[in-house]
Amino acid sequence: FVEMNHIRKQFGSLEVLKDVTLHMDAGEVVSIIGPSGSGKSTFLRCLCQLETINKGEIIVDGQTMVSTPAGSSKAVYAPASQVRAICRRMGMVFQHFNLFPHMTVLENILEAPRVVKGMKTDEIMPIAESLLKRVGLWSKKDAYPSQLSGGQKQRVAIARALAMNPDIMLFDEPTSALDPELTGEVLRTIKQLADENMTMIIVTHEMAFAKEVSDRVLFMAEGIVQEDGTPDQIFEHPENERTKSFLQSML
Ligand code: ATP
Ligand code: MG
Repeated sequence: FVEMNHIRKQFGSLEVLKDVTLHMDAGEVVSIIGPSGSGKSTFLRCLCQLETINKGEIIVDGQTMVSTPAGSSKAVYAPASQVRAICRRMGMVFQHFNLFPHMTVLENILEAPRVVKGMKTDEIMPIAESLLKRVGLWSKKDAYPSQLSGGQKQRVAIARALAMNPDIMLFDEPTSALDPELTGEVLRTIKQLADENMTMIIVTHEMAFAKEVSDRVLFMAEGIVQEDGTPDQIFEHPENERTKSFLQSML
């Protein structure tokens, strides 16, 4: 479903992604783990076009978003309208919720379908209601983000991304800004999505969660996928020395 081939990304002279390849099928859950600064967030941001890549190829559901012609040293993007159409199929959830502070929970959910998809309020309302019920926050629909706990904010952020009916969800450390007692409710929400066969890429420091929820785990370090395997391979039988020492440090 997602094909990212030989992705290279530089910020000035800093080469953050050196040659990263990820292929995943629809319905698959892939977790990305690795030390701070290894390029995990940058990789996700390249997929949803918050960053442009320097080299490589991204194909989503058979549609090419960007490719690098043979012999060329520079990636070439598809027309902006096509890139936008592909990105609209992705829902992104960040570490810091990024809710609109001046809007209620319900307004936060309604906003993107209204503005981006031109949907009418009564069209989206039943969807918003069912999503908020699903994350257990329908009773908070008139609250403002400042009146919610971190875990509640993050569940609203998840519902908001789902309101766009994405084909793939991208999570960048969705629980790392939360107090430990609040991570569980967010992880349960993500687990539920996995059980419903949502295609997901999850960058996380929660090793137990990655092990439980993922079909596959990528260990990234220094801008390279050092190891890519099933949770059992990565967590129980890592082969790469870097993976071993990283997992040791996480204990
Ligand atoms: P963490 O686990 O701490 O979130 P990460 O693996 O997500 O780390 P990235 O955020 O992808 O790491 O950053 C990788 C490298 O790229 C870092 O050295 C970072 O300083 C650098 N970097 C990221 N974004 C930018 C930017 N916009 N401009 C310049 N350098 C950047
Ligand atoms: Mg990051």
